[in-house]
Amino acid sequence: MSVPGRMIKIHADDNVAIVVNAEGLSAGSHLADGALLVDSVPHAHKVALVDIPENGEILRYGEVIGYALQSIPRGSWVHEGLVRMPEAPPLEELPIATRRTPPLEPLTGFTFDGYRNDDGSVGTKNILGISTSVQCVAGVVNHLVERVRKELLPRFPNVDDVVALNHSYGCGVAINAPAAIIPIRTLQNITRNPNLGNEVMIVGLGCEKLDPFKLVPPGHVARSDGCSPVLTLQDAGLKGFNDMVAALMDVAEQHLVRLDQRRRQSCPASELVVGLQCGGSDALSGITANPAVGHAADLIVRAGGSVMFSEVTEVRDAIHLLTPRTIDQSVGQALVREMAWYDRYLQAGEADRSANTTPGNKQGGLANIVEKALGSVAKSGCSPIVDVIGPGERIRRKGLTFAATPASDFICGTLHLAAGMNLQVFTTGRGTPYGLAMAPVIKVATNSTLAQRWHDLIDLDAGSIATGEKSIAQVGEELFALILDVASGRKRVCADRLGLHNDLVLFNPAPIT
Ligand code: CA
Repeated sequence: MSVPGRMIKIHADDNVAIVVNAEGLSAGSHLADGALLVDSVPHAHKVALVDIPENGEILRYGEVIGYALQSIPRGSWVHEGLVRMPEAPPLEELPIATRRTPPLEPLTGFTFDGYRNDDGSVGTKNILGISTSVQCVAGVVNHLVERVRKELLPRFPNVDDVVALNHSYGCGVAINAPAAIIPIRTLQNITRNPNLGNEVMIVGLGCEKLDPFKLVPPGHVARSDGCSPVLTLQDAGLKGFNDMVAALMDVAEQHLVRLDQRRRQSCPASELVVGLQCGGSDALSGITANPAVGHAADLIVRAGGSVMFSEVTEVRDAIHLLTPRTIDQSVGQALVREMAWYDRYLQAGEADRSANTTPGNKQGGLANIVEKALGSVAKSGCSPIVDVIGPGERIRRKGLTFAATPASDFICGTLHLAAGMNLQVFTTGRGTPYGLAMAPVIKVATNSTLAQRWHDLIDLDAGSIATGEKSIAQVGEELFALILDVASGRKRVCADRLGLHNDLVLFNPAPIT
């Protein structure tokens, strides 16, 4: 990687480079070899390093990101209007488990202070979660959360927060449709998230399709203390709103008493379950933040921890780079199966993968989903892919897992929580105030302009990689240290300090009735 004229070329074969100076480069600027820029090129956009003929390949990351719609002279701005998108790599005959690299050296001695649960999982927060079997009860639950926060929480200083797990599912849905398994298992597995300490409270209505008892974690149906894990608002004993709230406050207090007895204890870094995703990407994502996150992901894997990367539409075009990294045929086939399922899902909606890129991505210099995907997969580092889980499933193995989720920030976040994530790392180039109430989200900026403008919303600036001040490894190590501090409660992420939390949003590919 070099920085001639404040441009970065990633791979030796590339015929485009990315402008990294904050104001862009104006026409007439000199390229490294003395040639002149033909056009003015905005920050994070691409410059042709050679004359590219009509239909010629445009190469970035050493891969074809598109074909020239017309001849592009050296020094031109290669904007999206000049680029024809290639076909997605075919899913047949992909190389599976072919990469033979020596295992990464294990890392020992790294710990964080977490809340250990009975089932062996470890939380990074100590939260009372209140889940629901149907949207009908959401208003009552929101009222309850407000009352608990005001009247009960001050008496339980070891409990971090009380969180409503409201959602849009539960009734008015084709609950027996095969794809309904996705929203249902998502809700079931969210109640088992390590940050809820197996103390989740469940509020049902009484006439809904989704049985609230189906949300109760295994082994919690009949509690020895007589405290029912489910409270149903249509219960004949509850006479009106005040009765309901009083009953709910009573149950909440019993959970808070137990949660308040928990203390952080030193746990090995192998207990981390870190989800990775990006949102509002730009062309620097694949140069700065995502490779730094990839470096940190490798450190977590080397320390024995679990890392999930996701976002099917943002890996689909780089799938030929991922299948060789799977550990065996069955994991490789599972990865291909998830891609094929999503191809069919998009097709059924008469859309294709080009539906992914946003206007902001394009303003940020990303010509299409191919370029976005090649930058996105850098988050996964270089560890082997040990497992693939479907949307809403729980993580099963330590190491690097591909969790098949949509790229939608809120849906990916929700599915990561269901998978058992106790902390998320989120990279952004355009900027988003995204956050999750149930788990800390560390936001990493791809460029220093954003990090400086959003000084109180961004947790780590990876823009220093573009300017050459820091290496990918340095920022990756800083991120790893920050992950341990945040997981220990020693540092709070910006979104938590400001109380910025997005809603849980379920992925429901099944019909609504
Ligand atoms: Ca996303």
